[in-house]
Amino acid sequence: MDNKVMQGLLNTWDKGRTTPLVMDGIIGPLSREKIRRFQKEHGLVVDGIAGPITKYELMFYKYKDFEKSEFKCKCGGRFCNGYPAKVEESLLKQLQQIRNYFGKPVIITSGIRCRTHNHNVAGADTSQHVHGKAADIKVQGVSPDLVYSYANQINRDGCVIRYKTFNHIDRRGYRLRLDYRNR
Ligand SMILES: [Zn+2]
Ligand SMILES: [Zn+2]
Repeated sequence: MDNKVMQGLLNTWDKGRTTPLVMDGIIGPLSREKIRRFQKEHGLVVDGIAGPITKYELMFYKYKDFEKSEFKCKCGGRFCNGYPAKVEESLLKQLQQIRNYFGKPVIITSGIRCRTHNHNVAGADTSQHVHGKAADIKVQGVSPDLVYSYANQINRDGCVIRYKTFNHIDRRGYRLRLDYRNR
């Protein structure tokens, strides 16, 4: 993420509240101040420097229809703090693409999973959910068949699994298609 993109994302987050930053890629006092406010609001260490953790939080502002909390592990805090892995950007990008294509909300029924939760829901040991590379999704008012056919088209180097009522999408880095509708 270069500085201009970062300034743009800070502006997106802060829209309508304070003066937008000039997206010149120069991190001066105004940029640092905005970074500090961003860090404070997101419970991060407030140092005015956009390191990897701050940039990760900023990334979610690139994808307007998704929030980090939608990917939270569903163990309910019993086995992890909800975020044992980072959501991979290419997954978010694809989910936003699906959102845009259908023009309907994408509901994430399972995002990141800690190993214990993954085990409890009988996930595969190699589950991409553990690595923040997978999401099980439904698209509001759209049949899983249609969602599958679009995901099948766009997720060329990843996996799409068709379940009876939802689809699993992951970004494992190679193509895989499975049909688990009978499970
Ligand atoms: Zn968990
Ligand atoms: Zn899944």
